[in-house]
Amino acid sequence: MFVFVCAGCGAELTIPLSQVPLPIHARQKYGNGIQLPVLMRSGTFAVDPEPWGGPWRMWDEIDPSEAEARGIYAQVHALSDATPGASVIAPGDIRGTRLIPEERGSACCGVDGADGPNMACDACGLPVASRVDDCSLWQQVRLSSNAVHRVPVDGAQAVLVPWAELAERGEKTPPFEPIATWGGQLGSNHYWSWSPQWEAAAGQALAHLLVASQGQPVEVPDGLVADVFQRALDALIPAGSPRRRAVLAGPGRPCPDADVDILLVPLHPQTGGPWTPAGPTTSAYLVPLPLGVWLWLVSPQPYLPVPASGRMPKDVLRDDPLPQLSNALFRADRGTFQHILARLPAVRSPWLRTIAENLAQGALVEFL
Ligand SMILES: [Zn+2]
Ligand SMILES: [Zn+2]
Repeated sequence: MFVFVCAGCGAELTIPLSQVPLPIHARQKYGNGIQLPVLMRSGTFAVDPEPWGGPWRMWDEIDPSEAEARGIYAQVHALSDATPGASVIAPGDIRGTRLIPEERGSACCGVDGADGPNMACDACGLPVASRVDDCSLWQQVRLSSNAVHRVPVDGAQAVLVPWAELAERGEKTPPFEPIATWGGQLGSNHYWSWSPQWEAAAGQALAHLLVASQGQPVEVPDGLVADVFQRALDALIPAGSPRRRAVLAGPGRPCPDADVDILLVPLHPQTGGPWTPAGPTTSAYLVPLPLGVWLWLVSPQPYLPVPASGRMPKDVLRDDPLPQLSNALFRADRGTFQHILARLPAVRSPWLRTIAENLAQGALVEFL
C-alpha cells in the first residue's frame, strides 16, 4: 500500500491506497448535464499513462512521427501536452488540500482540471492535484505526477484472486441503470438508460473487434452481445464473406472451438490483464471486456433489482413494476472507441485509417 505525499513539503495527501488498473471509462464524457458517480473505489488508486486537459495542440500542428512515438497511430482531433502519469483516486480519499477557485476554468456545473491543477497542498500551497466533478465526467481526483511522491506503507498485501473465484463471485455490472441529471427540475431527476460503463467497455471492445476482423464481416453471439456490437460492426466493416466468428470465452466457459477467430474475454480486475485460454496457443484474437460486463454477458440476471415497497417473499421474481430498460438502441462510447482505435498499431491499415479519419472529422454519428 502507498500514501501520496506533497513533493514540496512532505505532507500526507491521501489515506493508504492500493494500486488497481485504470477503469476504461476514466476519460468518458457521457451525455450532457449528467451526474456520473465516483470513478475509483475508496482505498484504491490507478495510474493514467495519458495526459489530462490542456494545453492542447491540433492534429495539423503535430508531426505524425511524434504522435507515433506517443503511441498514437491515427488522426485524432487534438493532443494534450499536459504532464502524463497522474495517480487517480476517489475524491473522499484526499487529505490536507484545498481547492484553488481561480483554476475553475471553463467548467460547467463543477470543476474539471482542464486548465491545470485546481487543488493545492494545505501546508505549503503547492498545486498538487486536479479535482474532476463536472457534469458528464466520472468524479475523480488526479494527483499530478510531478507534484506528489508515492511512499510505501504497511498494510495488508492484496492477494491475487484466481479466475475461477472471480467467475463465481465477481461483481456483475448491470447493462441498464438510472442516470442522474444535474439539478433536476420538478419531478424525476433521473432516467433509465444503457450503463455508461457498458458503453465505454463496448467502445474499447469495438476498436479491438475491428482490428480482429481483418476487414471481414464479424458475427457475434445472438442476444445481448449482438445488441451491443452487431449494428456497429455491420455498419463499419465492408460487407462480404467469409464471416469471422466471435464468441465469449473465459473462466468456467466451455473451451472454444478451434476454428473460432475472435474471443471476447474478461480483464482481471487486479492486474488488468486478459484471461487467456489454457492448452495449445490459440491464434484467436482476444478482445478485452471489463470483468463485470463480461460476467453479465455470460450469465445475465433476468431482472434488475428495482426499489419496491411492501412485503414480497424473497424467492419470488417480481414482474410488477416491469424491469427498467432504455428506450434507445445501444451505442458504444464514441470517445473511448476513438481513443483505443487510434492507439492500436493495426489502425495504420488503409480501411481502418479511413474509419479513424472519419471519426476525427465528426462522421459516423449514426452508430457511435
Ligand atoms: Zn505541501
Ligand atoms: Zn453542466
